[in-house]
Amino acid sequence: MPLTLSCADMGYTCGYEVVGDTMEDLLKSTREHAVDLHNVSEEIATSPEKLEEWKGAIKQTSRPPQARTSRPDDPEPH
Ligand SMILES: [Zn+2]
Repeated sequence: MPLTLSCADMGYTCGYEVVGDTMEDLLKSTREHAVDLHNVSEEIATSPEKLEEWKGAIKQTSRPPQARTSRPDDPEPH
């Protein structure tokens, strides 16, 4: 079940989305991306606080679609 973590959800103004098959894999890729592209130091990128923050922003891509709550205001008359 692939996991994704988008940079926007991490607070970066970047359209990149990190994808990984496992949490470990995803966090590793995220760390590399953050260090390379967002000038995050290795120290910060491996800190428990940062990992918790990133974990909180992770999404599972295969989750069922959410039922839409918004409906058209003007349904077709019969
Ligand atoms: Zn990014």
